[in-house]
Amino acid sequence: DAALALVGVSRRYHEGTKPLVILDEADFTLRRGEMVALVAPSGAGKSTLLHTAGLLERPDAGEVIVNGKSCGKLSDDDRTAIRRNEVGFVYQFHHLLPEFSALENVVIPQLVRGLSQKEAQDRAMQLLDYMKIGPRAEHRPAELSGGEQQRVAIARAVANAPLVLLADEPTGNLDPHTAGYVFDAMEALVRHSGLSALIATHNHDLAARMDRRVTLAEGKVVDF
Ligand code: ADP
Ligand code: ADP
Repeated sequence: DAALALVGVSRRYHEGTKPLVILDEADFTLRRGEMVALVAPSGAGKSTLLHTAGLLERPDAGEVIVNGKSCGKLSDDDRTAIRRNEVGFVYQFHHLLPEFSALENVVIPQLVRGLSQKEAQDRAMQLLDYMKIGPRAEHRPAELSGGEQQRVAIARAVANAPLVLLADEPTGNLDPHTAGYVFDAMEALVRHSGLSALIATHNHDLAARMDRRVTLAEGKVVDF
């Protein structure tokens, strides 16, 4: 039972006239409730894989299936709707809106999706509490530490109750102690919400704690 599947997905870029093959008929399945680490060197194609899986980029060939829906033939608008409803993203840098509080940053995506202010605020506060950042809810991103910013970014990523969380080096900018703390909170939230997560990381200790580890080898996604 797959939350997300890539079937025969290819993705290439061009460096001048030379094709750069990043994904070559790659297959990957993220099962429901599964937390998978994506571990590969810089430049191997982790961001490309995450962006393709999250419908931010279209593959050159193959099919991305989110929650049982084949996304290849959908319009950009339909893909955006699936991305908003089914997928949450976390990046290495938080990308929070600087002029809004932590709370507002988690509220806003829910308003976009049509929830009332009250519903959105209640859920945002729950998520911030879950990420152990509730007492800092009224602070703006610049007033928070790096670890706190990432905890807000994670709360925001799951605000719309997605099925899948895609994270690109979510703790990559943090010192090891803070990284461990942020990962603990993220893991608890993922497990508690029954989310499926694909998390790119260079941190082997954190990778070891996930259900499964995959890497990119010659354009394929392989377990290791
Ligand atoms: P990673 O996330 O593992 O560091 P990326 O997916 O970002 O890897 O990039 C994989 C390779 O593809 C890199 O060599 C990168 O320079 C190249 N690349 C990524 N995006 C583009 C693009 N839009 N155009 C051309 N090359 C790209
Ligand atoms: P992310 O923020 O998701 O990690 P980036 O935008 O930083 O993705 O890109 C990741 C990698 O892809 C970097 O190595 C970057 O240099 C490369 N890259 C991105 N866009 C292009 C592009 N248009 N041409 C060549 N390389 C690119």
